[in-house]
Amino acid sequence: MSHIFPRHTKSAPPVAVGGEGCYLLDSTGKRYLDGSGGAAVSCLGHGDTAVTEAIKAQLDKLAFAHTGFLTSEPAEALADLLIAHAPGRLDRVYLVSGGSEATEAAIKLARQYWVEKGEPQRGRLIARKQSYHGNTIGALSAGGNEWRRAQFGPLLLDVSHIDPCYDYRYRAEGESPEAYGRRAADALEAEILRLGPETVMAFMAEPVVGATAGALPPAPGYFRRIREICDTYGVLLILDEVMCGMGRTGTLFACEQDDVAPDILCIAKGLGAGYQPIGAMLCTSDIYDAIAGGSGFFQHGHTYIGHPVAAAAGHAVVSAILDRGLVDRVKVQGDKLMARLQDRFGQHPHIGDLRGRGLFRGIELVDDRDSKAPFDPSRGIAGKIKKAAFEAGLICYPMAGTIDGRSGDHVLLAPPFIIEDAQLDELVDKLSGAIDVALG
Ligand code: PMP
Repeated sequence: MSHIFPRHTKSAPPVAVGGEGCYLLDSTGKRYLDGSGGAAVSCLGHGDTAVTEAIKAQLDKLAFAHTGFLTSEPAEALADLLIAHAPGRLDRVYLVSGGSEATEAAIKLARQYWVEKGEPQRGRLIARKQSYHGNTIGALSAGGNEWRRAQFGPLLLDVSHIDPCYDYRYRAEGESPEAYGRRAADALEAEILRLGPETVMAFMAEPVVGATAGALPPAPGYFRRIREICDTYGVLLILDEVMCGMGRTGTLFACEQDDVAPDILCIAKGLGAGYQPIGAMLCTSDIYDAIAGGSGFFQHGHTYIGHPVAAAAGHAVVSAILDRGLVDRVKVQGDKLMARLQDRFGQHPHIGDLRGRGLFRGIELVDDRDSKAPFDPSRGIAGKIKKAAFEAGLICYPMAGTIDGRSGDHVLLAPPFIIEDAQLDELVDKLSGAIDVALG
């Protein structure tokens, strides 16, 4: 009997024993193409020796030093590297162990900022219905994923959720993408005014929505208008790039493509590329200085913040992304992946939308292309695709539709940045076979 929980499968899952490039290997010798990098984690693929060597070297030098007393060389080096490439005026880094820790810290930092500024009534957070920001109580409260929230209702914080920016479902007939982007962003202004601007501390969003939407990019101009609204009402903008950051969309940070910079930015997943658990929260010196000049201390902390070995891994990963030109490679291979998806699924009667940026792509399935009606949830299409793909030796990330019954099942693709053309073919072939099996 296994003592591990949770089990996501009724029968015991295969045992992973190795990884090489874009493939994972189980104990029976079966190989799986890692078409989603776990959940957009393994951006460098498996077995990258530059990263494993950096980790070993750091372990030999220093495994742990508590940040309450000391900083460390790898933590300082990683922070310097991130800030050298960060958008806008972000210039402070808080290193954590993963995505939920980064978003949770961001919510608390926003709150403490307003308390230190003498506006303690600013306690309201606004986020979006179709979003996922993590699984700790604050982060789960910010996210709009009803399925994950369902059993925890009474414990969740009172966060306002506005409609997402979701071109395929919400743009009106005849409306231009730009006009829709503005209309979608204006929902934030309406919500700020409804709550009273003096009560709102921050707005939190994923630039390209991951788990709850399958790589959903914003309409043109959406985030520029969001930034404008935040500035008008003094609301902090928190961008969650835990999934879409670190080169995944074809720029190091996804928000660069939307021409905006946040006040607080959260990253994780691709930062450690799976080699170590690590995340980070970046903020501007305005925020840092308000706290440093006030109580002097961000009232937060976990034992493993700034962990030297995780930081050494993060530094090696970011260096690899930058030094090997992988961000440009993501653009090239991402376009090729999209072209293959268009070829294979562009006319498919049950695929309503193909979307995303770089090597972060999504497919939305529908029962009927004309009406965009999703499949009845009882058909469990996403689960069937996941199972059939896995049996065929492909790991991808299908999810059931989540929002107001208005979105369909979707599949998220996020392969390693090193993926070759032949592996893109293999990915699309296996996915296509799995969709056929799922649709019966
Ligand atoms: N934010 C986003 C956008 C995510 O996709 C995730 C993880 N799927 C998280 C936060 C939480 O990250 P973690 O699972 O590392 O806590």
